[in-house]
Amino acid sequence: MSSWYRRFIPQFATLSEPLTRLLKKNQRWEWSNDQENAFEQIRSHLVAAPTLSCPDFNVPFILQTDASSVGIGAVLTQSVNDVEHVVAFASRALSDPEKKYSVTEQECLAVVWAIKKFRPYLEGYRFTVVTDHSSLRWLHNLRNPTGRLARWALELLEYDYEIIHRKGALHHVPDALSRMFEDNTEVPLIAVVEAEAIANTTDAWYRKRVADVESKVRRFTDWRIVDGQLYFCRPKAIISEIVEDLDRWKLVLPRELREEALREAHNEPQAGHLGVEKTFQRLAVRYYWPNMFRDTADHVKRCDTCQRTKVEQAGPAGLMGHRVVEGPWTVIATDIMGPFPKSKSGFAYILVVQDLFTKWIECFALRAANGKKICEALEEVVSRWGAPRFLLTDNGTEFVNKTVQSFATEHGISHTTVPPYHPQANPVER
Ligand SMILES: [Zn+2]
Repeated sequence: MSSWYRRFIPQFATLSEPLTRLLKKNQRWEWSNDQENAFEQIRSHLVAAPTLSCPDFNVPFILQTDASSVGIGAVLTQSVNDVEHVVAFASRALSDPEKKYSVTEQECLAVVWAIKKFRPYLEGYRFTVVTDHSSLRWLHNLRNPTGRLARWALELLEYDYEIIHRKGALHHVPDALSRMFEDNTEVPLIAVVEAEAIANTTDAWYRKRVADVESKVRRFTDWRIVDGQLYFCRPKAIISEIVEDLDRWKLVLPRELREEALREAHNEPQAGHLGVEKTFQRLAVRYYWPNMFRDTADHVKRCDTCQRTKVEQAGPAGLMGHRVVEGPWTVIATDIMGPFPKSKSGFAYILVVQDLFTKWIECFALRAANGKKICEALEEVVSRWGAPRFLLTDNGTEFVNKTVQSFATEHGISHTTVPPYHPQANPVER
């Protein structure tokens, strides 16, 4: 019965674990204190179930996740007029293999699972993830994740979120940065490379800014130097009152490191060659430098892979000038097909003639593809329907020659050619 109510009870899976344990194979049925407590707790939660509110898709969602050694849980909330509304709860017990995960992996699992669970709410919107642990940052910073970690990293790429670390109630560290470095044991590789490059940077702007921040502390309140590295703060007033937003302090990159960071955010297999906005957002989670957006746009525009493989999203550009066809028999488009195997009477080509307004088509079999033969066929068309205002062809020699030219002049037709590598302009072209 209580299963139906599971989405109303936070941490249902953790609470009910002693009970689900009984359902396992080869498990003795035993109703001990554990089971009794679990039962009582679930019952009291059912009695005092908080009311869920309807989601408001104009307000950003906040996803809070938690993992214990036996279960994972998540709650989806929204802050409407400073009041927190709960939209949904979810929780489940960990499987036996999952119980063997490290704490960080369990935290990751909770986030990935919760995002999938609440996908209908979160997909396509920017939302905030609040977790206890820096698990997601750890996941993002893995150089070459494999197996399930790679899968998680890929799954998360689809979503647009920002990570906030919940204030530790017991270990309250006033300085956000100190905790950031406490966590650094998990991202040693990148941090070491960065530290070395930053210490030896020749970027004049970077060196000057470091000196300024050191000497004029009051003027540069948004800047900090920790362990010789420069940080810039992007404050988010609303959230930082509730939780400690560690990620608002961005590592400032000197010139030498920017190209590498851009490549990592755009070109690496996990980055997936996303567009300018998404690439910039990935960078902005960790880094800052002046004109970062412009540099991102440049990088994406120059990306060789993108240029070669991405399909232009917009339709082909409209042609200027003569493509506005005002009426029947104004523009006649013509093209030659062939050579085909010769017929018994020696025909090897087909001349296709089309009126662009009515789409009327006439075809002529030709023995040769030259100006003389083409003009004989066109003469027949013109004698039947009159002369068109424009004749549209490609600029092959069979169309661009004295014979066709004098034919056009004689009938007062302006002959317009379209380059063969731009055949879209000529609708008769196959
Ligand atoms: Zn690319």
